[in-house]
Amino acid sequence: MPGHANGKAAAEPCANLSSDLRCRLWAQVERPSCCAGLKPSDEMCGDNRQQALAWLSALELASRP
Ligand code: SF4
Repeated sequence: MPGHANGKAAAEPCANLSSDLRCRLWAQVERPSCCAGLKPSDEMCGDNRQQALAWLSALELASRP
């Protein structure tokens, strides 16, 4: 999978995500502003992790160059 010039490739987990799926930068000033400003919605999160990942996958497909 090709890398991204400004970060991670699509479908690649964030480098700040721990093995137990928690943000290592949570509540720290180093946490990116785009993360801190994100307003999660029911549509985005769904009822479980699988639904949230499916929503992300659909966004990645829709925004593919
Ligand atoms: S909140 Fe942002 S920095 Fe933290 S794990 Fe998620 S994407 Fe990465």
